[in-house]
Amino acid sequence: TRLDATSMLPSLRRQLLDRTPAIFIDGLWQACASGKSLQVDNPATGAPIAAIAAGGEADIDLAVAAARRAFREGPWPRLPAWQRAARLHALADVIEARSETFALLESLDAGHGIASVRNGDLPLGLRALRDSAGWANKLTGEVPMHPATQPAMDYFLRQPIGVAGLITPWNAPFLMVLQKLAAALATGCTAVLKPAELAPLSALLIGDLCREVGIPDGVVNIVTGTGPSAGQALADHPGVDIISFTGSTAVGRSIMAASANSNLKRLVLELGGKSPVLVFADADLDRAASAIVGEIAFKCGQYCAAGSRVFVQRSVYEPLLQRMLAAMDGLRIGPGYEEATQMGPMISAAQRRRAENIIGHSVAAGARLLRGGHARPGNGYFFEPAILVDAAADMQVSREEIFAPVLTVTPFDDDASPAAVAALANDSRYGLSAKLWARDIGTVHALVGLLESGQVIVNGGGGGATLPFGGVKQSGYGRENGRIGLEHFTEVKAVRLGY
Ligand code: NAD
Repeated sequence: TRLDATSMLPSLRRQLLDRTPAIFIDGLWQACASGKSLQVDNPATGAPIAAIAAGGEADIDLAVAAARRAFREGPWPRLPAWQRAARLHALADVIEARSETFALLESLDAGHGIASVRNGDLPLGLRALRDSAGWANKLTGEVPMHPATQPAMDYFLRQPIGVAGLITPWNAPFLMVLQKLAAALATGCTAVLKPAELAPLSALLIGDLCREVGIPDGVVNIVTGTGPSAGQALADHPGVDIISFTGSTAVGRSIMAASANSNLKRLVLELGGKSPVLVFADADLDRAASAIVGEIAFKCGQYCAAGSRVFVQRSVYEPLLQRMLAAMDGLRIGPGYEEATQMGPMISAAQRRRAENIIGHSVAAGARLLRGGHARPGNGYFFEPAILVDAAADMQVSREEIFAPVLTVTPFDDDASPAAVAALANDSRYGLSAKLWARDIGTVHALVGLLESGQVIVNGGGGGATLPFGGVKQSGYGRENGRIGLEHFTEVKAVRLGY
């Protein structure tokens, strides 16, 4: 049942927001070594809503030791895969039973519109758990068909890689935590999770529920804290076998250095994006305009795969632009936990200032701002969504991942070849997701081949939980979801069985 979000606030406060700051190690919530805490803000008001433990190196040491013990001595990696799957389904069930609590918590903590959490993050997170549970007993090694030349049998096994460090961002905290936990746990790994300090609250409730459904102690450990302290300690730790990280390219780079300088731990890096949108004259312009604006409004532009550089065939440039402006003008902006909200606030004043600066810099360089692009006066970190035109390819607004609701719109010639259009799209250090609006199958087919991107979305929609998700170029490497996503958490062991 759907509950009125505001009427749930007092009980949420008692149950979750007023909890004593603590980290979760070996099945127990305990104080962190420093005894210090960090404040968590409601981005719609700027007011504090909760405090979390400021974990650091000593806490990460304890967490990794607990995860290692659970991996070496505990039942988890040795359970039949269907039994691990059953725990993941049980976790999905208890999360689903608390859907409204999670929706409200996420909208309070990360600022997202509650309807978008209900329809997006929640079902996707549950799908990640259930899909990973489904894969748990279907991952296999191989026996090559050809006979060995000596009296022997050759095969390879897949085994869980070991202790997984999971580092997640604040822009989709619930979904990112579940996606990573699901993959690690389904394969029999144990985990140390370092959630984003700006939106850590859903992770804490997920920790409670892991215990409730009987995931053994030490299999899931959670250390809250800042990136430079807890996150860095996890990336540096020689006892961690894989880091699955989602966040900025800059931090991804430092995690890669940490791996190189410690134990060469495996990395899955889901990093930034500056995704292109290509609109051809034969596209459904109404659908394209509303989807482009809807996507940049989703999470207030703080969505890694959001299309932010729009390239339009010249003959439909004006009609598309007018439709986009109208769609932007119609957006309902407000606190995430109000039902009617279509776009919530940004996560912090600092992120908002950065967006304003990039826009200011590009306007000074000659771009034209047709809408918004500045802070909304009053409390909270609200931002007026922006559309810019005449933005050259070398301007900051065209190159930087802004992580705010900011679109640039640029025409391309009616007779431009697919290769020329792809070159516009590919002119970025990122390659996470490309969007294509066209009906001509030849155009679509040519561009799908040419776009440098981990994902191509043709005529709208998201990638879904079943498609592998991840980037090329400086958007990172590795994929999440499905068999490919889970295989990163396994190690291959080749065996020659002589006789
Ligand atoms: P961020 O890189 O600042 O932080 C991500 C996480 O890393 C946080 O938990 C943070 O505490 C931690 N961290 C920070 N410094 C660290 C360090 N030195 N060592 C280890 N950990 C550290 O990113 P953010 O601002 O939280 O998230 C926004 C970014 O995430 C954007 O760039 C966005 O594109 C990206 N993102 C990518 C995907 C994807 O799947 N490719 C999905 C969502 C977000």
